[in-house]
Amino acid sequence: MKENTDQDLVDAATNVRENAYAPYSNFKVGAAVEADNGDIYVGCNVESASYGLTVCAERVAIWKGISRGEKHFKRIAVVVDTQDLTPPCGVCRQIIWEFCGDVPVILSNLQGKTETVSAGELLPRAFDSKFLSNAHQSGQGTNRG
Ligand SMILES: [Zn+2]
Repeated sequence: MKENTDQDLVDAATNVRENAYAPYSNFKVGAAVEADNGDIYVGCNVESASYGLTVCAERVAIWKGISRGEKHFKRIAVVVDTQDLTPPCGVCRQIIWEFCGDVPVILSNLQGKTETVSAGELLPRAFDSKFLSNAHQSGQGTNRG
């Protein structure tokens, strides 16, 4: 199994950031996730003239891994060219929780400033599948009589 460093992920995210399709915002983002087996999947943000269809780099990276058969990721890096390090948006925090759990999220910029936070810090009291299985099976709203 390949042993990656945090810097390996940051480098991969920095490189793929160049491929970002962000003609509307000029806000280019690169992300890299590390699967449990050490494979790294990268993604960049992809915008659309219909703004709402934009997909973030984090999700593109995770979707790539999932589509290759990965089930879980153990680390993610996000690189943005901002002075203040940019965390994942709310939607991506939910998706990171779904496919990674409480993993390290490495935030970095092009100047090499880096900070690692946990997914749990970014999304406290997260909603996930355990609530689906804990739902009351009382038949509320249905007529089972
Ligand atoms: Zn996002």
